[in-house]
Amino acid sequence: MQTAYITHSLCLKHDMGSHHPESPARIHAIEDQLIASGLFGYLQHHEAPEATREQLLRVHDAGYLDAIAAMAPQQGRVDLDGDTSMNPFTYPAALRAAGAAVMGVDLVMAGKVENAFCNIRPPGHHAERDRAMGFCIFNNIAVAAAHALAAHGLSRVAIADFDVHHGNGTEHTFHEDPRVMLCSTFQHPFYPYCGADSGNDHIVNVPLAAGSGSREFRDAVTGLWLPALERFQPELLLISAGFDAHREDDMAMLKLVDADYGWVTEQLKKLAEKHCRGRIVSMLEGGYELHALGRSAMTHIKVLSGL
Ligand SMILES: [Zn+2]
Repeated sequence: MQTAYITHSLCLKHDMGSHHPESPARIHAIEDQLIASGLFGYLQHHEAPEATREQLLRVHDAGYLDAIAAMAPQQGRVDLDGDTSMNPFTYPAALRAAGAAVMGVDLVMAGKVENAFCNIRPPGHHAERDRAMGFCIFNNIAVAAAHALAAHGLSRVAIADFDVHHGNGTEHTFHEDPRVMLCSTFQHPFYPYCGADSGNDHIVNVPLAAGSGSREFRDAVTGLWLPALERFQPELLLISAGFDAHREDDMAMLKLVDADYGWVTEQLKKLAEKHCRGRIVSMLEGGYELHALGRSAMTHIKVLSGL
């Protein structure tokens, strides 16, 4: 079965300024590598729909949804927090990014594809129930998990998050909901300065010290993520795919290499094949050094596609 590739042209128009690292060029960097590697033509292409209010309300407050819609500017930019802003295209792009999450879940649950990669922005895992944060507006991966539970009747959904930053919004959304397991690695102490001691049976947080590389990351996945996921036996696996732990990415101080992203994807794919018919939906989160981002995401998608 094929891998779906879900994106939308509006994700290229959300722009927080020419010096902002979370730039439209990130989408192109991934797409260029997919084209150069010959993978692009083998993927099943889809245009992301807008997430509905009902889908967003599963993980966000009504008041927050109303406030974001009301703040969306007709021109210029509006600041949401110190490093997150909206231009006239941000709100519709954020609706498409969250809609891609829903579409990815629907496609894999219907068996139309084995797995899906959503090349979207704004990213999502820092977004809280009532607050935009850290380049994120809506929590796309949380929208995906909540949709799988509510619309497809699943009772066990797992999220693997290898972004260099802790997915605080994702953790807070599901901290008290044992139907969702979150397995996360992240640099600590580092933005957003939480997650090191807030785990529980279904929130498997693995903080890594600055300077950690392939060995520490693979030990965390092998020693902590995989045993927890084996016990949990997810019916669907979601991936918060941030590539900013790459050694070439100066956003943070972890030292992963391209091959680590291929390796972790292989481990997760094997687990998904064993427990959930290979069903994986992967969503782009961070990754700011464009060459490393393009190569790492291509490696990730290549493993997902089995090509
Ligand atoms: Zn990040």
